[in-house]
Amino acid sequence: MIDSTKIKENTIRFVQEAKKSGIELIGVTKGVCAHRDVVEAMYHGGIKIFADSRLENLAHIEAMNLQVQLYLLRLPMVSQVEEVVKRTHLSFNSQEVTLKALSNEAENQGRIHQVMLMVDVGDLREGVLSSKFLPLVEKTLALKGIKLMGIATNVGCYGGVLPSIKQLEELIDLSSKVREYFGYSMEMISGGNTATSILFSQGIPQGINQLRIGEGILIGFDSTNNRPLEGFYHDAFSLEAEIIEIEEKPSYPIGEIGRDAFGEIPHFQDRGIRKRAILAIGRQDVEFGAMTPLLEGVEILGGSSDHLILDSTLCTERLKVGQVLSFNLSYSALLRAMTSTYVQK
Ligand SMILES: *Cc1c(COP(=O)(O)O)cnc(C)c1O
Repeated sequence: MIDSTKIKENTIRFVQEAKKSGIELIGVTKGVCAHRDVVEAMYHGGIKIFADSRLENLAHIEAMNLQVQLYLLRLPMVSQVEEVVKRTHLSFNSQEVTLKALSNEAENQGRIHQVMLMVDVGDLREGVLSSKFLPLVEKTLALKGIKLMGIATNVGCYGGVLPSIKQLEELIDLSSKVREYFGYSMEMISGGNTATSILFSQGIPQGINQLRIGEGILIGFDSTNNRPLEGFYHDAFSLEAEIIEIEEKPSYPIGEIGRDAFGEIPHFQDRGIRKRAILAIGRQDVEFGAMTPLLEGVEILGGSSDHLILDSTLCTERLKVGQVLSFNLSYSALLRAMTSTYVQK
């Protein structure tokens, strides 16, 4: 279930906090496949720029006919430059080849495509190292179909690198160098994602004027810093699944143990006979380690592609076949549940 009111409230709160630091928020929708209700809630909460990793998701938002800007977050595929130029107002880039392709395509379409250049400050996902930034700027400024709008970085996603004031100062410094060497002022300095908002309390350095926020708005959480955001709702989304079997069974499998359905060797602790419930949902739809049952006394044991197995021995409520149980989701479980076509939204 999606509680749009909570998403809207989370958005309003985040937008206000960011504003105090002179920062505009971009709403990131990739965690929910740009679901219509979520986009609408974010829009009414004050988001006027939406970003997503996938063109398909941006196309959903485009079809909603809101007065918003659409940014492509993941570096564009060269094979998709035509769509990128047609459907988005701006894309994030690091590769000269792609920038050239975007520029040519924009010229063909009689448009100017806006770009941000990504710098890698240490998380080792996308972006050029800072030593290669100025040469990339020089090449970008020479392209006629493209307008350079700013510099951006991302941390916490691959390397799990924590955000720091030092990284933000590096961005500001690079932006000053662009002004100094090329006489060109970039409009945007995009400091990162939800994780970077942890620096609000320390004072974000003057000059950083944009953050790209998904998780913080959606579930009021910051995974990188393992930090619930205070005053935010963490339960705008909940997942419901139906019980299809309840049986008492041993907790240790009977027979020789090989590998499970996913090629992993499972480990079990013998806790005697336990009461177990099987729910009609599986790893295809959700990530078991990233969801929490709302009913007390119920523990997730595991499962397979289409089955979720719970230990309900300690549950005081008498569970029944056909009964629906609810779960709270963290980001990776939310992502998978929203992507699964088997989960009704
Ligand atoms: C996913 C993503 C974001 C948003 O991250 P959250 O942690 O959900 O706020 C921001 N920037 C880039 C480049 C991303 O890929």
